[in-house]
Amino acid sequence: MSEKLHITGFSKTELADFAQNIGEPKYRAKQIFKGLHERRLLNFEEMTDLPKAFREKLNETAMASTLKVESRYISTDGTRRFLMKTLDNFPVETVFIPTENRDTICFSSQSGCPLKCDFCLTAKLGLLRNLTAGEIVEQIIIVLNDVYGIGAETPHGTNLVAMGAGEPFLNFDNLIKALDIMSDKEGLFIVPNRVTVSTAGIVPKIYEFAKLEKRPNLAISLSAPNDELRDKLMPINKRWNIEELLRAAKEVEKTLRRGERFTFEYVLLGGVNDSDVHARELANLLNECDLQKVKINLIPHNPAEPLEYRPPQREQITRFKDILEGKGVSAYVRRPRGRDIYAACGQLAAKNSPNLVQILSV
Ligand code: SAH
Repeated sequence: MSEKLHITGFSKTELADFAQNIGEPKYRAKQIFKGLHERRLLNFEEMTDLPKAFREKLNETAMASTLKVESRYISTDGTRRFLMKTLDNFPVETVFIPTENRDTICFSSQSGCPLKCDFCLTAKLGLLRNLTAGEIVEQIIIVLNDVYGIGAETPHGTNLVAMGAGEPFLNFDNLIKALDIMSDKEGLFIVPNRVTVSTAGIVPKIYEFAKLEKRPNLAISLSAPNDELRDKLMPINKRWNIEELLRAAKEVEKTLRRGERFTFEYVLLGGVNDSDVHARELANLLNECDLQKVKINLIPHNPAEPLEYRPPQREQITRFKDILEGKGVSAYVRRPRGRDIYAACGQLAAKNSPNLVQILSV
C-alpha cells in the first residue's frame, strides 16, 4: 500500500490534524473537504482555489483517489455497473440505479463477503477484505461524477443503499464513518434517512446500530420463515437465529421515525422458500413477533451461474404477496434491475464476462 494518506476517508477533524501535520493552517481542512466532497474533485490539481505550492504538497503526502474504474456496463434499463479495483487490486463493485423520481447508488462495504448465503454469487468470492471509509466514499463520488459530470448537481438527489458486495455490519466502523462524511452539508450532503443499510443479521451490531444518534434506515435479510430452512440458506442463522434476530429488530423499532416501517427482505427462490405454506408461516412469524410496523420486500432470485436457484413463476410471486397481504403484512415485489449486466442483487462477483457489452474500458 502507498504511504500516502487516502484523505477522502478523513473526517473534518482528521483533516484539520492532517493540515497541521504538514505545516498548514487549519482552515485548509475545510477547503480540502469542500474540494473532495462538495465539488467532488478526486484530483488535487483541479482544486485551483488552493495555492499551487499547497497542491504540490498535497500530492506528495496524500491521495484523493485510490479506486480505478476497470470497466463500466450500462443495462438496457439504464442501470450502470462499475467494476473497480483497489490499489492492492481487490475488486469493488458499485451500481447506479435510475428511477423516475429518484436515483439510487448501491455500494459495496467489503470486497467479496465472508457470509456463505447459498443463493448469492458474491459469497463465492469469500471475504477479500474490508473496504476503508475512503474507499466507500470514493465509490459514490466516482458514480455521481460519471452520471452527472464532475461536481454537477444531482437532479433527483441521491439515495444510497449498502446492498452491494459484503456484509456492512462486519465493517461497521468504516461504514458509519463513511456515512457520516457523506452526510455533511459542506460535502455530498446525503442525509441518513436517504440511506439504507442491509444486514444478513449480525445481531450485536443491530443493537449497536439502534443506539446511533443519527441512524440510516435498516433492512434485514430474512429469506426464510423458519430456522431449519434459514440455517441452510443463510448459515449466519446458526450463529444468531430468527428469534434473536427479531429481538434485536425490536430494539431498532423503538427508534423508528414517523411513517417509517421496519423492512425485511426475502429472496424468493423457486421451489425452495416460495410456497403458500412458506408465505403463511412468514406472515404468522411477522404478526407474532411483536413488531408493530413491518413491511417486506420480496426479491425474486437473480440467477447467475453456478448458483442452483431460479426465481419463482410470476403467478407464484403474486400468490406469495397476496397471502402476506391477506394476513395484514405489507409486501412489495422488487423489480430486478440490471440483470443483463450482472448488476442485480446477489450478482456482484467481479464478473467480467466477454458476452457483456463493455461500454468503457480504461
Ligand atoms: N450482506 C447484506 C447486504 C448485501 S445483499 C445482506 O445480506 O443483507 C442485498 C440483498 O440481496 C440481500 O437481501 C440478499 O439476501 C439479496 N440477494 C443475495 N443474492 C441474491 C440473488 N441472487 N438474487 C436476489 N437477491 C439476492
